[in-house]
Amino acid sequence: MSKPRPPNALEKMGLDSPIALALHLPSRYEDETTLDSIEDALIKGAFTPVQTQGRVIRSQVLFRPRRQLMVTIEDETGVLPLRFLNFYPSQQKQMAVGAHLRVRGEVRDGYSGPEMVHPAVKALAPDAPLPRSLTPVYPASAGVSQTLIRKAVAQALRAPEIQAFLAELIPEALLREILPGGDWMPLHDAIQFLHEPPADADTAALVERTHPAWRRVQFEELLAQQISLKRAHSIRRQRHAPAFSGATQIQNSIEQRLLESLPFRLTGAQERVWSEIEADLSRSFPMNRLLQGDVGSGKTVVAALACARAMDYGYQAAVMAPTEILAEQHFIKMREWFEPLGIELAWLSGSLKAKDKKMAQASIESGKAQLIIGTHALIQESVSFAKLGLAVIDEQHRFGVRQRLEMSQRIGSELLYCHQLMMSATPIPRTLAMTYYADLDVAVIDELPPGRKPITTKIVRQSRREEVIQGLHAWLGKGLQAYWVCPLIEESEALQLQTATESYAQLGAQLPEFKVGLVHGRLKAEEKAAVMAAFKANEIQLLVATTVIEVGVDVPNAALMVIEHAERFGYAQIHQLRGRVGRGTADSVCMLMYAEPLSAAAKERLQTLREVSDGFVIAERDLSLRGPGELLGAKQSGDTMLRFVDLQRDAWLIDLAQQAAERLLAGHAELVEQQLDRWLGSRADFLKA
Ligand code: ADP
Ligand code: MG
Repeated sequence: MSKPRPPNALEKMGLDSPIALALHLPSRYEDETTLDSIEDALIKGAFTPVQTQGRVIRSQVLFRPRRQLMVTIEDETGVLPLRFLNFYPSQQKQMAVGAHLRVRGEVRDGYSGPEMVHPAVKALAPDAPLPRSLTPVYPASAGVSQTLIRKAVAQALRAPEIQAFLAELIPEALLREILPGGDWMPLHDAIQFLHEPPADADTAALVERTHPAWRRVQFEELLAQQISLKRAHSIRRQRHAPAFSGATQIQNSIEQRLLESLPFRLTGAQERVWSEIEADLSRSFPMNRLLQGDVGSGKTVVAALACARAMDYGYQAAVMAPTEILAEQHFIKMREWFEPLGIELAWLSGSLKAKDKKMAQASIESGKAQLIIGTHALIQESVSFAKLGLAVIDEQHRFGVRQRLEMSQRIGSELLYCHQLMMSATPIPRTLAMTYYADLDVAVIDELPPGRKPITTKIVRQSRREEVIQGLHAWLGKGLQAYWVCPLIEESEALQLQTATESYAQLGAQLPEFKVGLVHGRLKAEEKAAVMAAFKANEIQLLVATTVIEVGVDVPNAALMVIEHAERFGYAQIHQLRGRVGRGTADSVCMLMYAEPLSAAAKERLQTLREVSDGFVIAERDLSLRGPGELLGAKQSGDTMLRFVDLQRDAWLIDLAQQAAERLLAGHAELVEQQLDRWLGSRADFLKA
């Protein structure tokens, strides 16, 4: 038996087939198609890369100021010194006196006049032909040479399967109808062009990826994505889920009793989204809906109504949140609403004791538990639901990619076809809604409950910390509560904990009349719950916290938040954090404390946050900065679905791809599978996550 061959450098980069190589497109190009005389090269000077050639007339190793190789070449028009600060003996030999060299680089002014430092060098005959196309520069892992990739790509492009793989699948008539302008290249030509653009190609457009050849490739990729989403959409409609319709027939329903027991009336926006969700739930295929609403807009009660509806029909409902603290908040709220109605609730999280976990699992399995709340522990295999009708998933994008994949596989599995309601305070910009989330129906709560006051956001320098603490003293003196959020330290959770502990001790000493609490990610679930309960009951007036309070925490009397080192937080995080205040009747304040020096980006971020309170605007800014990966939570996978498309730059192509996908599915179903395989391959799964 021979051992399997270890992967070579290219395979390690995922370039393991002609197809992968053909789709490994250059990030930029070098122009080796023209040649300047040495005189012209000298005239062009710095910042203009040139290629020139000549015979070596001098080659010497200097030792001052440091060891280096100086080579001088000459042609009929002049001489050009070349300086190499690092060199191998083989290079020295290659550039010996008499050799003819073709060199590429910029001519700059050195100590002793114009020179080229570390030019790219080839030893070539004076009449060696110039390449006719631009030389591609490929993305490469460290240590993988361009020469190796170029050779492999060139070979791949000649492989027989490439013609078939890149064959034009979209009927020409359709292409011409949908795509504006006449310059749409066939796919194969476009790929070929990108690898070997002619000397006169528009390199700026190539590098910016706006060239028609790029457009063609991007269109193809978006098309595959649209088809795959549309297919997911129709597959969902063929699945079965329990239809919860005709609630009015149910006497004394849980839903009705819940509505009657609420201390408030639903807002118009809540009524509207509830009727959309109600309509979904009354269908016999699974709902796949996102309930979107800014922090504090009241999504939870709408989710509770959906749970009530499922329970009214004899089904279980599950509510899942990405962190224990958020899940607990839901549990507390749901218990407050549902326990008086005689509903059996169950709590399940990873940190439960084995015995309690077993008990919870048993009641979920027997069907005794009607409403189950927890973390992603809910979707683990050891949990089997007696009769799950609805899964509510809060802040879905904050779950890890694996967890989301697991979730969609379990919820989508034969065992567990149920309705799904996602909730998020992060608005999805249109471009994302049309691509990654195209099979998701979205309902938006665009109105806050009455009586909410806008939050005033202030930016303060860290050096004014003492003043801030004095202000805090006065604030707490009025009987109000406050949050103190400690800096995010991405590199080290231990360090984050340390600063939180220090702030806690320091604030405790400076505010002796008040009770200060501390909550952070390392606390045990019960400890966290105890601190949160004490804060909610106003036994604690100032809560020092790490970002664990980012989502979901709801204490209306706490209307002041101080965020230390706000410059380290992202847009979405601060927006979420400050959504913890502004929930009661007091005027709410969020203080963003920053340490200097402040980067230009951080400054802009803080100023935007001070001026803008609209979560949608903030999400758009965020997307333009970070790209969709992070918003989708796909960052961990290192693999956003779209390789060649930039949702900002190429937004206009999305509509076209969507139209083309509809037409293809309607009239050319046989092409659709091929189209999908071509682009998505094994990555198709991530679409569902
Ligand atoms: P989010 O959308 O951020 O999850 P919540 O569901 O936690 O918001 O609601 C925030 C607060 O507003 C909660 O205290 C909730 O009870 C309250 N609330 C929800 N709907 C209304 C309403 N229609 N009128 C008054 N208060 C409401
Ligand atoms: Mg919430």
